[in-house]
Amino acid sequence: MKQFKTESKKLLDLMINSIYTNREIFLRELVSNASDAIDKLSFAALTDPSISVNQDDLAIRVSFDKDARTVTVSDNGIGMTAEELEENLGTIAHSGSEAFKAEHGDAQGDAMDIIGQFGVGFYSSFMVASRVRVVSRAFGSDQAFAWESDGVEGYTIEPAAAGERDGADDHGTDVILYLRESTEAEDTDRYLSEWGLRDLIRRYSNYVRHPIQMMVTKSEPVANPDELPDDAPRYVEHQELETVNSMTPIWKKRASEVEQDDYDEFYKSTFHDYTAPARTISFHAEGALSYDALLFIPGEAPFDLYSKDYEKGLALYSSNVLIQEKCADLLPDYYNFVRGIVDSPDVHLNISRETLQQNAQLRAIAKRVERKIKSELATMLADDREAYEKFFENFGRGLKFGIYNTYGMNAGELADLLLFYSAKEQKMVTLREYVQAMPEGLDKILYAAGDSRERLEKLPAVTGAVKRGYDVLLCTQDVDEFMFQAMRTYHMDAVAGDAETPGVDAREVELANVSTADLDLATEEEKTAAEQATKDHEDLFGAMAEVLGDKVSAVRVSANLTDAPASIGTEGPISLEMERVMQQGPDAGMAPKAHRVLEINANHPVFEKLVAAKAADDQDKLALYASLLYDQALLVEGLPVDDPVEFAKNVCALM
Ligand code: ADP
Repeated sequence: MKQFKTESKKLLDLMINSIYTNREIFLRELVSNASDAIDKLSFAALTDPSISVNQDDLAIRVSFDKDARTVTVSDNGIGMTAEELEENLGTIAHSGSEAFKAEHGDAQGDAMDIIGQFGVGFYSSFMVASRVRVVSRAFGSDQAFAWESDGVEGYTIEPAAAGERDGADDHGTDVILYLRESTEAEDTDRYLSEWGLRDLIRRYSNYVRHPIQMMVTKSEPVANPDELPDDAPRYVEHQELETVNSMTPIWKKRASEVEQDDYDEFYKSTFHDYTAPARTISFHAEGALSYDALLFIPGEAPFDLYSKDYEKGLALYSSNVLIQEKCADLLPDYYNFVRGIVDSPDVHLNISRETLQQNAQLRAIAKRVERKIKSELATMLADDREAYEKFFENFGRGLKFGIYNTYGMNAGELADLLLFYSAKEQKMVTLREYVQAMPEGLDKILYAAGDSRERLEKLPAVTGAVKRGYDVLLCTQDVDEFMFQAMRTYHMDAVAGDAETPGVDAREVELANVSTADLDLATEEEKTAAEQATKDHEDLFGAMAEVLGDKVSAVRVSANLTDAPASIGTEGPISLEMERVMQQGPDAGMAPKAHRVLEINANHPVFEKLVAAKAADDQDKLALYASLLYDQALLVEGLPVDDPVEFAKNVCALM
């Protein structure tokens, strides 16, 4: 027996025991080697006129033997001589494909489409097999050789036994895996079944260019059921050789060649979704870095999208072979809902994730993927508002988190994709639409945040603003206000004008919570009047602030109020809604509080009552009024009163 080299032993041990957790990929590796071997033979036939092969006969065959516990992957490709068996399989991580490519130059690389650089491909067999026998006969040779190993110490190479590839022209390779017993960690029994193997082929090698054939059991209804006795079987079974893989990848086709129905079916079966995708994006690149990509925006959000277990990523193929089911590096987090496939013969990958992340080709593809998704969404927003609103309902929250999580850094990318409910328009609007409809005198985007649209609509600050002709965005998702704080401003891009419509200049517009105490929506006159009133009634407001204690930082007249007698505004960066959201979080105890200001409407009849109470020096009445005004303002905001018993008592006292 020949010994594996020490490094090989170490590597083998490492791989079998740790690197791959996903053991079922062994089949993909063997199938891709078989496909390479066929490519090599086709290539030889192309370049050497003395070699003639019938391309139609070239195929990969997968079979199993339940009793012997073997799975065999065969090909009638180029095969290996004894020396090649030694060289290729004797040294782990030796890449024969690479040597072949180097020898023949890269010029024909495309015709060959050889998949190399997958490192330890063949050796992955030992993850599921305790012994592997490779019987191979090189094209043009009349002797087959057998390589055999337990993947631990070493291997043997001997002439193959009688019956092993000894027919006329029986070139090619059989890789026979003697499967380990099933364990809890790895169910190897499933590889000893038609469905088990078929499932693996479909999942990992469906788009290998050569046919992958399997003997399958078919059952057919009998021809003459009426003439048979009642208990006779109505179906007969027979074995049939079937090509299990689809061979032509749908993503290689141009969108114009494919019916949407076919995309939909492909999407549904590949990504296990009942609903057809909302959008299909197909694009291709040629040149130094060539690839095909097919992306889908789902019609519905997967149930686990917002859970910790959700894994984003696109399937990554290299030359039709699945490298990674979910390559996370291809998608930014905020587009985590996108499903799809990228296939590039140019991404050279090793099995470890680190190499993936550092891969420059992959980064270039990821960049284009991101741009494509954005422009598709922008198109959808412009062309099919209804569909976009549905999309946004499903996935908008993720886009908002994309801005919030990066401290607003992605705002430029994402802000124009956001929709908010407009209090004035009573429908969803974009920030751009808001800014373009902004009336004279307003230089901020106003929003109100809370848990229900109905309640927000009735907030004094909102009704006040709307009455003045200003729009307010009603935000009901927990992330909204945090996102706005991260953004601080909305940058509206310029739009070039044309003969009919004038252009729009770029603008930077501040975002402001409409309940913010220092917001000036009022006219200069109103503001001066409010300031004056605050000054004139300094004593009154001082007395009220004293009654309310540390619940409020100030009591003052607000020019913003129109109908309501009073409202709670805030000073500083924390709004009431943010306070509420943070109170529900894990650090509730440490969460910062909003600085509340009790704002009084000096034009409301209630104000006169306050003034009268102060004038009469009726301390009790003033305390009662102050507490009641504060509590009812809290209730209007949708916040609990601090002391419900006290509140109830105060109401009774008033009556
Ligand atoms: P890689 O495929 O990345 O080169 P492997 O360890 O999977 O690495 O295979 C090593 C080499 O063994 C291959 O490069 C190829 O030359 C040879 N080989 C493997 N399987 C076959 C096969 N079915 N037919 C011919 N050659 C093969």
